[in-house]
Amino acid sequence: MSAVMVTRKVTRKWEKLPGKNTFCCDGRVMMARQKGVFYLTLFLILGTCSLFFAFECPYLAVHLSPAIPVFAILLFLFVIAMLLRTSFSDPGVLPRALPDEATFIEMEIEAANGNVPTGQRPPPRIRNVQINGQIVKLKYCYTCKIFRPPRASHCSICDNCVDRFDHHCPWVGNCVGKRNYRYFYLFTLSLSLLTIYIFTFDIVHVVLRSVDSGFVLVCFFTLWSVVGLTGFHTYLISLNQTTNEDIKGSWSGKNRVQNPYSHRNFGKNCCEVLCGPVYPSVLNQRELLQEEAAGPAAPAAPETSAGAGGPESSTTKTTAPLIPNEHTPEDARPSIAAPPARSSSPGEEKPPAPQDPASSSSSSSPSRETDPAQAKEKTQ
Ligand SMILES: [Zn+2]
Ligand SMILES: [Zn+2]
Repeated sequence: MSAVMVTRKVTRKWEKLPGKNTFCCDGRVMMARQKGVFYLTLFLILGTCSLFFAFECPYLAVHLSPAIPVFAILLFLFVIAMLLRTSFSDPGVLPRALPDEATFIEMEIEAANGNVPTGQRPPPRIRNVQINGQIVKLKYCYTCKIFRPPRASHCSICDNCVDRFDHHCPWVGNCVGKRNYRYFYLFTLSLSLLTIYIFTFDIVHVVLRSVDSGFVLVCFFTLWSVVGLTGFHTYLISLNQTTNEDIKGSWSGKNRVQNPYSHRNFGKNCCEVLCGPVYPSVLNQRELLQEEAAGPAAPAAPETSAGAGGPESSTTKTTAPLIPNEHTPEDARPSIAAPPARSSSPGEEKPPAPQDPASSSSSSSPSRETDPAQAKEKTQ
């Protein structure tokens, strides 16, 4: 009858990705959506250094040594390079499960848990794995529909699971994770050195010329905050620990779980974090996709709207297949009895709310196995 024209449109993967990241330069640059604080960081660094180069360096180069501005320029370029490398790269985002994979995982969980009477809370979706002799819990991400790898967490700002999630840093406008942590650390370290350098030569300049400078005061306050941050991350690196784990107390004594990633050696931990292999991007955001569209005005693929819908739309979809539970599997029992670690960090996303919390709390029928939250409260 009527001829249907099939057009083949070539797009890149980043154009279809859900989550709240923004991309530019055809997917080569990846950042969080809110970039205001990142521009402030750039402005502060460029402004401070410009004042130093314009008003102090000419005098210092003539009366002390021409090496002073040269070294400052090299340090400044290194700081900017590390900042841009941290801000523009994939921090280690884990791709969400494809619809078929998500269905399979849901079926697997359902089969493991059996049926739960309506109105009762399903057990938490947790899997236990053993790492270096320690039991580590893998939590299910209701947005990405995957069991997160160890140390991964869901950033609520970028709306993605990030491997070895450290924290979301608005100053660099990106998550800090497995793929950009070392650059973030080198950025803070080099910025500390640059601030100390400028502060020192500013004092020298003031003393030599016997002039007042408000610049010294600004540098002094910047110095403590930047050096303090570098010191904190040096401490974390020495323990092979992330900021997220430190805030949550993942490896503190109360959980009876020692950090399975620590070598108990400062040098080895530093080597692993700073000199270990550079991991390729699992997200692979520049991968080519081909999609066939029938007709002259074919609508966009439905995945695009899911990405633009944000976390609400994707989270509400997951509330439907809540796991029924009749008897808890053996491997899940210790996980349910142990209170799940609560996080105050922005990275932790929350599972969907129980369907009827009021009725389950008023009812006397639920056993301790069918309501882990109540069991947790009783044990505390
Ligand atoms: Zn996630
Ligand atoms: Zn983030």
